[in-house]
Amino acid sequence: MDCELREPSTLEEALDILSHHGKDAMPIAGGQSLLVMLRNGLISPKILVSLENLAELSGIQKASGGGLSVGAMVSCASLMASPEITETARILAQAAAKVASTPIRNLGTIGGNISHNELGADLPPPLLALNAVAECKSLKGTRRIPLGDFFRDYFSTALDEGEIVFRIHLPAPPPRARAVYLKHSRRAEDLAMVGVGLFLIRDEGQRVSDLRIALAGVAPVPYRARQAESLLQGKTDLTRELIEEIADAAAGEADPITDAEASAEYRRKMIRVFVRRAILQALES
Ligand SMILES: Cc1cc2nc3c(=O)[nH]c(=O)nc-3n(C[C@H](O)[C@H](O)[C@H](O)COP(=O)(O)OP(=O)(O)OC[C@H]3O[C@@H](n4cnc5c(N)ncnc54)[C@H](O)[C@@H]3O)c2cc1C
Repeated sequence: MDCELREPSTLEEALDILSHHGKDAMPIAGGQSLLVMLRNGLISPKILVSLENLAELSGIQKASGGGLSVGAMVSCASLMASPEITETARILAQAAAKVASTPIRNLGTIGGNISHNELGADLPPPLLALNAVAECKSLKGTRRIPLGDFFRDYFSTALDEGEIVFRIHLPAPPPRARAVYLKHSRRAEDLAMVGVGLFLIRDEGQRVSDLRIALAGVAPVPYRARQAESLLQGKTDLTRELIEEIADAAAGEADPITDAEASAEYRRKMIRVFVRRAILQALES
């Protein structure tokens, strides 16, 4: 099937094409997943709308209040190399470094990664743990969607037809915050069988006052393990026993699949191992 590539130079033009052609048009960012799906006949858009020339979707900027605004077209390689990301959201650089291989990291974008919403993608856990918000645009206007509400089902998100991810906003981390991203996969370049993004905040007395655990690869969508997180409430110390309880709870509330790679039971065991390891690493860092 013929597929036409459009390369608009303004956001308005891009949104106009997407809105006008509805399901027949799709945005293309780095093309790393889209072109695989196209070649395999899994999608058949008539028009691809390149986001490459849209300056508003590029760059990493400091926001007022100490957070960051990351353009949807920022690549994984740029996340890894950015001093701003290293300073404010190092967990995102850690996760970007674990994406696939160098060519995919060079071309694959943060906007494409979350919009594609493939099981086991590496960027959603750090973004969920950081309480990131996706700023999305269509001809109807702008919506700010917290990442916790963004992922809907396998390969499905809260984006409406004709709507694109414009920028991703990362709030400033509180003082004494520590974050870790760990990935378990069969081969380094594979998607995560279990991906854990962990964010931990200590109070002035060095007690852990907040714990966020975001998981990928173990349920239809990446999510925060709220039951496991809630076990910290009312506790003054993150003891070894409590860490075990939290890791058990995270494994219990997951909904992993059994496939050719691993059983659901094995995946649950690995959640336990990697959540425990992530907490210990964050405490030690
Ligand atoms: C062999 C292989 C291995 C991979 N391994 C990993 C891995 O280990 N970890 C990992 O995290 N990822 C992995 N990926 C995915 C990859 O990292 C990218 O995240 C992915 O290709 C999407 O980014 P992209 O910029 O290439 O998007 P594209 O391929 O251009 O687009 C993907 C989808 O998102 C939509 N889209 C793109 N940008 C936007 C936007 N701004 N707004 C709305 N919709 C948009 C497109 O319409 C399309 O539906 C792998 C991909 C491949 C092909």
